[in-house]
Amino acid sequence: MFAIHLVCTKCGERYSLANKIYKCSKCGSPLDVVYDYEGIREVVEDNDAWFREAPRVWKYWMFLPVSNLRKVVSLNEGGTRLYRLKRLEKDLGFSQLYVKNEGENPTGAFKDRGSSVEITKALEFHARKVVVASTGNMAASISAYGAKAGLEVNIVVPEGTPIGKLVQAMAYGAKIKVFGKAYDEALAESERMAAEEGYHLTGNYHFRVEGQKTTAFEILDQLHFNTPDWIVVPIGAGTHLRAIWKGINEFYKLGLIDELPKIAGVQVEGYDAVVRAWRENKPIEKIRKKVPTVATAIAVKAPVDGANVINAINESHGYLGSVSNEETMEAGLMLGREGLFVEPSSATALALAKHMREEGIIDQGESVVVVATGNGLKDIKTWESAMSKE
Ligand SMILES: *Cc1c(COP(=O)(O)O)cnc(C)c1O
Ligand SMILES: [Zn+2]
Repeated sequence: MFAIHLVCTKCGERYSLANKIYKCSKCGSPLDVVYDYEGIREVVEDNDAWFREAPRVWKYWMFLPVSNLRKVVSLNEGGTRLYRLKRLEKDLGFSQLYVKNEGENPTGAFKDRGSSVEITKALEFHARKVVVASTGNMAASISAYGAKAGLEVNIVVPEGTPIGKLVQAMAYGAKIKVFGKAYDEALAESERMAAEEGYHLTGNYHFRVEGQKTTAFEILDQLHFNTPDWIVVPIGAGTHLRAIWKGINEFYKLGLIDELPKIAGVQVEGYDAVVRAWRENKPIEKIRKKVPTVATAIAVKAPVDGANVINAINESHGYLGSVSNEETMEAGLMLGREGLFVEPSSATALALAKHMREEGIIDQGESVVVVATGNGLKDIKTWESAMSKE
């Protein structure tokens, strides 16, 4: 294993990997896993067999913090396809537009990449029961991987979580607790259960980041190690975007790619705390009001990785924007006409890309990869009500 220690993303404090912590005990910020990149370089450099291997999460084992690869808990996550959308390129004026279709993962969302790593680590820590807070997809994902590993899974979800995601978690044998009106309250409850009731905590913490950075590895691999100009990613907690930026920088550091892309992050109207903070150059302020949204998977009032998202956007000279419910549904139906069915939270990425192209933030000649985070079948009700209005 090439992972060496943990470091705080804010104050730089170091911790041992054997330390079962979830945030910096000095400043409360998210942690990050640090690697011996020279060691990784020796494995990947001029390794033709590795280059030829088809993309999937564990192809990138050297970038993952797991010591015994025979004990990995896997459901064949990753290896999702990258689609070029020729018709939409023409209609919207892009020169190259791709979708990374994360709905093709085992439970229908990119969360499986992180769950495979997190549940493998839970076994390393000898956990027997795990807890996770979720807007629905992480619940389904941890439930599946926990079941595969033989663990008891408890999930905490807010009111209004799409029923499809809960039924899915129940089918994997999880116990469900509906708690609070928003994800942020469910999160606090899961952290309380871990602290007071002996649950192993899973969720948007450092080991998940490691699995989820493989979305970036795969995009670059599928483009034959050419860098696209833009990658557009929906923001809930911001952990996936942060992870994607980390993965890109790791490939860059090792010389696997020659250039860095610009990253764009998208939030949905009413849940745009990070966009506002970035625009006004102010600290992130938690959203106070709960408003109705089509994009429940990204309806987060105080994203834990918000500050890391802003760093990624600034470092990459990228962009942050929010889109309306109407723009989101419209973009989802555009993807439908290309043969792709994604959930509303995922459609926000195409909605923002369209807007950025119209505003000239994305140039006519630039290539764009939109990350479609989850499968449309996850949230049929929202689609149904949008279609019956037409
Ligand atoms: C979890 C999720 C997101 C947001 O990812 P974060 O890591 O929380 O920013 C976006 N779309 C879908 C479908 C999700 O399930
Ligand atoms: Zn710290």
